[in-house]
Amino acid sequence: MNYRQAADGEPLTAGQLANAAFRTSLSSDDPSPRHDIHGEWYCENEHCPVREVRVNAKWPEGDRPKMPRFACPSCGLNLKFHGHVKTTTLTPE
Ligand SMILES: [Zn+2]
Repeated sequence: MNYRQAADGEPLTAGQLANAAFRTSLSSDDPSPRHDIHGEWYCENEHCPVREVRVNAKWPEGDRPKMPRFACPSCGLNLKFHGHVKTTTLTPE
């Protein structure tokens, strides 16, 4: 089956969504709305089993920090930011 990339905001039918595939990639551009962030961080602690951590966060009041800091859920050290997660919708042609 061949797929094409759906345009941002393109309306899709229920049938197209049921057969859609989704691809995620990292980007240095920030496509998130002002209150949301979807990103990937990395734990640099060589003794920690965690490597990549994806965070989908929302700040309900006020704007989110320019680049929020997150701690590793396993070792508690600060995580290094890797990039913004961008999701692309692919629909069957
Ligand atoms: Zn860690």
